[in-house]
Amino acid sequence: MKSRKPMVAGNWKMNKTIYEARDLIRAILPQVENIEAVDIVVCPPHVCLGVAKRETEGTNIMVGAQNMHWEASGAYTGEISAGMLVDLCQYVIIGHSERRAMFGETDATVNKKVHAALKAGLKPIMCVGETLEENQAGQTAAVVEGMVRGGLIDVTPEQAQNVIIAYEPVWAIGTGLAATPEGANGVHKDVIRPVLRELFGPEVGGAMRILYGGSVTAANAAELFSQSDIDGGLVGGASLKPDSFAAIVKAAL
Ligand code: PEP
Repeated sequence: MKSRKPMVAGNWKMNKTIYEARDLIRAILPQVENIEAVDIVVCPPHVCLGVAKRETEGTNIMVGAQNMHWEASGAYTGEISAGMLVDLCQYVIIGHSERRAMFGETDATVNKKVHAALKAGLKPIMCVGETLEENQAGQTAAVVEGMVRGGLIDVTPEQAQNVIIAYEPVWAIGTGLAATPEGANGVHKDVIRPVLRELFGPEVGGAMRILYGGSVTAANAAELFSQSDIDGGLVGGASLKPDSFAAIVKAAL
């Protein structure tokens, strides 16, 4: 058995209205009741965080946001700060590849967001992963290492205990083409884990969770999660279906 508690987080992306979010959570809850050995997180759109908080209060499901700004307040029309989120959720996804590709996020902005989240008491789920071209050019290790280091600049070992890394190869997200369990585990174990140990020491670096994301389904989750350094998953499409999400949570047991 792994010493790290597995986590399964659902990234709902830009899906679900408030009422649909309520119904989805109500459909998931009975299927994962009494599961305490997995940290279960749902990450709905910002406008659904209130209903998600209400529906999950007193249950074993936790809530995360999908993004935030690094400033505490001010003239940033349309943005939301960590201080606003902390009353609604415990986690926040930072640096998802869709935000990097479509909204100009960089390792530098990811790093600012990680610091702002930690300062406010939110646990960042920091996403890293190479593109198809980088993968085909044999650059996976260098790219992923650079993203981990860049996103975690000046994070202390104490703070790092509250950081979760999600390795999400861009070519695997929403494509139905998941990484092989051995391939993903190789990146977790031989690329990301050594950097975490170097930055934060063997104890903290060894205890930090590294999730895999990219076309995780009920069918492939168990094999992925059985790998030594895959500590659960960040799940997109399959997290919108209660049966699939619950099955993926159970695969992490
Ligand atoms: C994601 O968006 O984080 C993700 C992993 O998506 P999917 O599971 O749909 O590939």
